[in-house]
Amino acid sequence: MSDFSPAPGLRPWQRTAAGAGLLAADGSIAATIFAEMSALAQRTGAINLGQGFPDEDGPAEVLDAARQAIADGVNQYPPGIGAPVLREAIAAHQARWYGLDVDAASEVLVTAGATEALAATILAHVDTGDEVVTFEPSYDGYAALIARAGGVHRTVPLHWPPEQHRPDWRVDLAELDAAVTDRTRLILVNSPHNPTGAVLGDDVLERIVELAVRHDALIVTDEVYEHLTFGVAHRPIAAIPGARERTISISSGGKTFATTGWKIGWLTAPAHLVTSVLAVKQYLTYVNGAPFQPAIATGLGLPDTVFKDAAASLRAKRDVLTAGLEAAGFTVSLPDAGYFIVADAAPLGYDDGAVLCRELPDRAGVVGVPVSAFVHADRQHAYRSLVRFAFCKRRDVLGEASSRLARLGSR
Ligand SMILES: *Cc1c(COP(=O)(O)O)cnc(C)c1O
Repeated sequence: MSDFSPAPGLRPWQRTAAGAGLLAADGSIAATIFAEMSALAQRTGAINLGQGFPDEDGPAEVLDAARQAIADGVNQYPPGIGAPVLREAIAAHQARWYGLDVDAASEVLVTAGATEALAATILAHVDTGDEVVTFEPSYDGYAALIARAGGVHRTVPLHWPPEQHRPDWRVDLAELDAAVTDRTRLILVNSPHNPTGAVLGDDVLERIVELAVRHDALIVTDEVYEHLTFGVAHRPIAAIPGARERTISISSGGKTFATTGWKIGWLTAPAHLVTSVLAVKQYLTYVNGAPFQPAIATGLGLPDTVFKDAAASLRAKRDVLTAGLEAAGFTVSLPDAGYFIVADAAPLGYDDGAVLCRELPDRAGVVGVPVSAFVHADRQHAYRSLVRFAFCKRRDVLGEASSRLARLGSR
């Protein structure tokens, strides 16, 4: 296989942005690039910086609270909208960090990860032909969900000017203006952003709100990295005047507390929007993770220092991997938040990041994911030589990955 063309026989919604299908014509599951790279990592013993999951546990209080909840018998279906203790904790969290006034009884919905919140929101609000605007590259689930709902995916590119050494991802406001029209049903914002680690500036957030109001679109915001920022604090779009009444804010405990396997997510939104999403959500999972819900509530109530220490520790890890990638010859975009670094392989002689990613396990014992997996098939060009690496790993693992990557320089 020389590129990521979709498995043959896929229905349109099964062709994801990655061009990697989910379900092949014969009913087998076609590999996504993430599965393919994880399999490569396993087969070769390479360090897997492809998938974004931490290899260390988060706060002990959170883990203890889950064990305690199981022991206390919190093992049956919680309420459909989520355990009261967690809904209260989410509302309190929005007030404490952002000054947002959220009603725990009617404006919070607990979901099976941010993923289900996104899925249920998109299925609830996107009909055939409705347009959904996202930035590009974008989290791989978005394109698949929009297509599944029959929607049309419009994208606004995040630009990385290659002539700069330490480039920033840039939004062209004119391109944003052009993408949003009266056909736009949702503007789906992801800040802090995966895969780039960009934090959208106030000018961009404010323009999104302006456009949403002008074209009567809903704003859906994926803020799973809200606490993992390395300088500028996260500003939720719902806090911008005019946004709140048309915004569904989505987050999750997975990234913040290093509990990605628990799949406790949530959304906050005006009550009528919560109801519309709940109507879909109740027939997807109905509920999930009973003992993990109070545990995440415990996490949300931990002191500020816990959140700040998690971000500081991640920032130090970012710096280890950045140095390693630069020493190996990549041009690196320094992320302002999140779990990932995007590195340009062009200086190493690779104009196709996917080719590098397939060779990397053998050449350097490290696995990454090509950024092309986050970009529509017909817009690959600007992102072709870019590779995403996860740095949410132990310092020694990142140090070892860095020394291995140094071998690349000797091509
Ligand atoms: C990890 C991630 C998610 C999924 O979150 P879960 O809570 O694990 O479902 C959603 N959006 C982005 C941008 C992510 O990186």
